[in-house]
Amino acid sequence: MSFRARLTLIYTGFFALALLLLGCGTFFSVRQALAAGVQRDLWAATEQVRRIFNAGGLEPIRTPTGELRLFLHGQFIQIFNNPNLVAQIFTTDGELLDNTPNLSGRSLPLTAEALRLGPDDVFTGYSLVREVDAVRVESLVTPLVLKANNQVVGYLQISRPLRDVDQTLGILIWILLGGGIIVLPLAAGGAALIAGRVLRPLDQVTRTAQGIVHAEDLAQRVPVPPHQDELHRLIVTINDLLGRLELLFNAQRRFVADVSHELRTPLAAMQGNLEVLDRGGLHNPELATEAVTDMRRETGRLIRMVNDLLLLAQSDARVELRYEPVELDTLMLEIYRELRPLTQGVTLRIGAEDQVTISGDRDRIKQALLNLGVNALQYTPSGGYVTLGLERRDGYALLTVADTGMGIAEEDLPHIFERFYRADRSRSRHSGGAGLGLSIVKRVANAHGGHATIASLLGRGSTFALWLPLPPAPSAEAPAVEGSATRDS
Ligand code: ADP
Repeated sequence: MSFRARLTLIYTGFFALALLLLGCGTFFSVRQALAAGVQRDLWAATEQVRRIFNAGGLEPIRTPTGELRLFLHGQFIQIFNNPNLVAQIFTTDGELLDNTPNLSGRSLPLTAEALRLGPDDVFTGYSLVREVDAVRVESLVTPLVLKANNQVVGYLQISRPLRDVDQTLGILIWILLGGGIIVLPLAAGGAALIAGRVLRPLDQVTRTAQGIVHAEDLAQRVPVPPHQDELHRLIVTINDLLGRLELLFNAQRRFVADVSHELRTPLAAMQGNLEVLDRGGLHNPELATEAVTDMRRETGRLIRMVNDLLLLAQSDARVELRYEPVELDTLMLEIYRELRPLTQGVTLRIGAEDQVTISGDRDRIKQALLNLGVNALQYTPSGGYVTLGLERRDGYALLTVADTGMGIAEEDLPHIFERFYRADRSRSRHSGGAGLGLSIVKRVANAHGGHATIASLLGRGSTFALWLPLPPAPSAEAPAVEGSATRDS
């Protein structure tokens, strides 16, 4: 069943239930009011008859004479407001003494329960409803009490046919039923109409989603409705989601293209060398050595790249860091020692050296620092300086790698931490990098709740900084390292 049909059904169901409750409430209230009216009539008549009897004494009951007959037959029309009311007088044995003429031969005998009424029941009486000639009649029986000795001398029974009450209730039932039959289909139609209108934008969302699936075009967006309601929020959220998906898919596509491109160069170089060997190079020791050296370099480059990609993939997949206390000063010395053999005429030195221990993944932090150190040495000409530094600043452990090398152009700074980005393409490719080292630095910093920054001046040098939060929690935002052009990762 469609959502629209279900909504319509649920709404109509609730409406029917509400209608039923309202109908029952109305019916029972009216019935109650009518029953109270009947009781009022019966009591009013009872009071009137009793008043006359009290005024004239109760002798007529004891010795029934023309007086009673005269009273019941002669004056009842004047005393009863409602001509339907019937009065009957019974002896204490339940024998009928007399009645008003409008009973027209019908008999309404006294019930056994009424005979049990005592003098104290004058104001409560006994009520009963019975059927006479297919008409319901309600009777009120009260005892007639002699004031002098508080003795019951007879019973007064006032009766009233309920024909008008039953008719009114019957009409009411028809009105309620008829109203329900007319109103329910109207409500169901209205509900279907409203559900259709409400669900129309959702249909549009579905169509757009289908369009995206068929056309494989994530650039499509669902039209946003003008009213700021739940639907507006839903569609804005879906559009945001689509935007994010589009971004991710594009990044993925770019990534695959970049990886293929980067893999192609060393593989092509190796294929060339293999061909050289194949075409007789194997018999020429000089050529063979050159080809093998080339292939070894390209293989090394491939291995480095695959390792870097693996590291990036792990941080993308949010592989858990292995947290442990890391003495950053000791780690810096270790890096210093490992970089020493690579200096090639560059002076490697240690600047500020605070003692700092943080909680983090030692291997990853080391990898990031090594990347920065190797880059600094690689892009600094012989005679230059590379300085490693460690200090506490603004709630962070600040690890810096500063060089006096070639620097980075201002237009490259915003992209420097992106995957596969190389500032000077020809030079860096020649130096063997695929443009993954700095994106690893950024990921490591972010994974630790910190960030990486760069300050650089073309031709003067660069300072890369790794900001890692000090325990217990990182405080205020850290400023960038001084320099003419700075960039936050
Ligand atoms: P690569 O493996 O190519 O060095 P990186 O991600 O480590 O990749 O660096 C990206 C680019 O940033 C490099 O190609 C280079 O142009 C530039 N770069 C990185 N470090 C420095 C530095 N210390 N001095 C100048 N340029 C640098």
